[in-house]
Amino acid sequence: MNLIFLGPPGAGKGTQARLLERRFGLRQISTGDILRKHREEGTALGKQAEGYMKSGELVPDDVIVAMIESELAGDHSRGFIMDGFPRTVSQAQAFDALLARQAWPLDAVVLFAADKQTLLARLSARWSNPRNGRTYNALTNPPKVAGIDDQDGGPLIQREDDRAQTVAKRLDVYQSSTTPLIEYYRKAGKLLEVDALAPVDTVAHDLVHALHFEHAH
Ligand code: ADP
Ligand code: AMP
Repeated sequence: MNLIFLGPPGAGKGTQARLLERRFGLRQISTGDILRKHREEGTALGKQAEGYMKSGELVPDDVIVAMIESELAGDHSRGFIMDGFPRTVSQAQAFDALLARQAWPLDAVVLFAADKQTLLARLSARWSNPRNGRTYNALTNPPKVAGIDDQDGGPLIQREDDRAQTVAKRLDVYQSSTTPLIEYYRKAGKLLEVDALAPVDTVAHDLVHALHFEHAH
């Protein structure tokens, strides 16, 4: 199954993508995580992306599309979950063309619906594992020991772009550049919606049902 998760920052896309990855062997492709890794490694792409990410702007479409093409060039054995891509109509058109060239079907686009107040609260309480992108939440899903990942025992960080001012900018950018994709995929007959305000387990349950996963456990 090949999926796109669409929704504002903080809606829970990454949280659910990681759950589906574990349960159904899909592959989460988070453009944000890939870009952060490039920045950490100091690659040319990382340096190019840094200024945009710090200020909450989108990295230019051509850069992102080239990155996705190389990401999808290798592993074809598993279905994918696109987490944070596409974010503009131009990226969606380029992705449609890529899928058509490779004869890969897109099964569904899941819209994570949440209000601004919830998103602001979630992002200001988000703690991330910079080594693998796993997230916790100081309010809704705290780690056992504050600041430490339950699984790998390493430190958690608060992302610099999760600060209030940058979050406000990212939500504006989502509104102006990314919400047109809702109509784009609705017209294509691909759009499903989940209530992202529900607890993590409820959203996961809703997703499994909406996507008609078989052998759910
Ligand atoms: P996104 O990938 O859409 O930006 P995340 O998955 O990182 O969002 O989730 C944002 C924050 O909200 C994280 O701190 C996460 O632990 C928390 N979170 C995710 N889903 C839920 C939920 N359904 N209810 C409450 N908190 C959630
Ligand atoms: P995210 O981790 O999805 O919140 O993304 C963090 C930042 O990475 C965004 O604010 C953008 O600067 C950049 N980014 C991630 N995905 C994309 C994309 N598809 N298009 C443009 N910029 C992106």
